[in-house]
Amino acid sequence: MAILKVARLGHPVLRMPAQPLTVDEIRSPDTQRFIDDMIETMREYDGAGLAANQVHTLKQICVIEVLGNPRYPDAPHIPLTVVINPVVTPLTEEIEEGWEGCLSVPDMRGRVPRYTAVRLECRNREGDKVDVVAKEFFARVIQHETDHLKGIVYVDRMRDLSSLSHLAEWQKYALGIREPE
Ligand code: ZN
Repeated sequence: MAILKVARLGHPVLRMPAQPLTVDEIRSPDTQRFIDDMIETMREYDGAGLAANQVHTLKQICVIEVLGNPRYPDAPHIPLTVVINPVVTPLTEEIEEGWEGCLSVPDMRGRVPRYTAVRLECRNREGDKVDVVAKEFFARVIQHETDHLKGIVYVDRMRDLSSLSHLAEWQKYALGIREPE
């Protein structure tokens, strides 16, 4: 396995739509190896998720996992989920603002409005169809990661940029965690 290089905001690959995969492509050794590399890269950088665009590949694949993540210490756990060819449908008109970060926008946080419940139809890494209902934080991460596959970054979804914060200032003023002085 390999840790992949993560594209940062400004790289055109983050602004391009990713392409769907056939079931044969999903099951190919190359794609399986790429998925393993995505998982390893997400874990290495403590991401809650990672989309293929972020590692310079325009395929509709993203991986999600939150297990005691130091970047999101209060987040509920989400088991490892591999999402391929996703279609996301809102299940409510309720929208909630919450803090998000992104490995492609390092050391920044911003408040992003998201649907609180979505239906996710996709394929898993075996190529099987998956149809799940996700709520709250899982729904937020799904919306963030599947946006990447459309060339959309979380800052595009912010109502305005007034909450956009550097990590240290976010910890100090938004979370109220102060460094010992
Ligand atoms: Zn991201």
